[in-house]
Amino acid sequence: ILQIVNIVILISPIGVFCLIFNIFATLGIEIIADLIEYFLILTFILIFHASFTYSIILSFSKLNPYIFFTKMREPMLFAFSTSSSSATMPITLKTVEEKLGVGKSVSSFCVPLGTTINMDGTAIMQGLATMFIASTVGVDLTLIQYMQIVLLAIVTSIGTAAVPSAGTVTLALILGSLGLPLDAIGLILAVDRILDMMRTAVNVCGDAAVSCIVAKSENELDEQIFNK
Ligand code: ASP
Repeated sequence: ILQIVNIVILISPIGVFCLIFNIFATLGIEIIADLIEYFLILTFILIFHASFTYSIILSFSKLNPYIFFTKMREPMLFAFSTSSSSATMPITLKTVEEKLGVGKSVSSFCVPLGTTINMDGTAIMQGLATMFIASTVGVDLTLIQYMQIVLLAIVTSIGTAAVPSAGTVTLALILGSLGLPLDAIGLILAVDRILDMMRTAVNVCGDAAVSCIVAKSENELDEQIFNK
């Protein structure tokens, strides 16, 4: 099995190149402009979601978002550089307990559970990527299909493994159930590396934010440590 994995890893750059080349040859080089647009929109939504949505839910629990984000710098940077929520989990746990003051009983439940199933960044990417692929291959989506995308993206992101590019693999499930061509994923692959780094940082940030909120509601948050 290890030998097979090594061979796959060895030839995967060539495979990705061929996939992308095929897409560009079929759809034309102009598709680059759309790809840049997809990249910029997704970046904007991820930043907006991390800074706005989490700030709001933290504020509802009377927790200062500025303090939260300052202390989350290390796990977010680690998630950004590894593209894996699982690899970041020890650092997330340490930060949540030691810097944000979450009690062990809450953190040891929320952080591993969040790492496995809470992937907002991945769900956002899958929703946007499906719409992007549908528009590039000229499929007009109906309102029902949009709702289907929302539901499928949430469910699929829950089932996505917390490892690099797993979200792009499970994206195939959404495309398949909407009848969109699976090889269009090749288009996304061109920019997926950097987007994966960003969405993993968002995923990790969500796990920590929810841990703090749950700890606060359970009186398991040491606010002195949080505000220090
Ligand atoms: N890399 C992501 C994570 O570990 C999952 C994905 O969206 O590919 O959270």
